[in-house]
Amino acid sequence: MSDRIGLGYDLHRLVPGRKLILGGLEIPFSRGLEGHSDADALIHAVIDALLGASGDGDIGRLFPDSDPAWKNARGADLLRTVVARLDAAGLEIVHVDTVIAAEKPAVAPHVGDMKKILCPLLGIGPDALGIKGKTNEGVGAIGRGEAIACWAVALLRAK
Ligand SMILES: [Zn+2]
Repeated sequence: MSDRIGLGYDLHRLVPGRKLILGGLEIPFSRGLEGHSDADALIHAVIDALLGASGDGDIGRLFPDSDPAWKNARGADLLRTVVARLDAAGLEIVHVDTVIAAEKPAVAPHVGDMKKILCPLLGIGPDALGIKGKTNEGVGAIGRGEAIACWAVALLRAK
């Protein structure tokens, strides 16, 4: 029981009048993700993957929408809290891989900057974090640019 894996998923609507924050990075775009917090779908998916692997519930249970403490919470701050819980539980993050499904904007030019933010938070090197952008080939809500969805898997190991 030393290795554990977790899967996370998140989706937010793309709306005008919001900043687009993904992986803790503000990406220049005409619209942003709608949500109670900064709506950072990538970090939210990573958090659920980590919590799934650690058996510590999910993002909604740990940071409920109904709690004003988490209103406008930055994803990076939530992630820092979760990583500290893993550390306290004696779990180390070995590898995290993610997919960002977004018709626009293109994700690839921003992957390096996202890693500069996320790797120190996760305590892993750039080779241990995958961030891959995909379009949805124009299909469905993501393909029409109405939303961005993210998936993440995480491998944890008991220290
Ligand atoms: Zn979310």
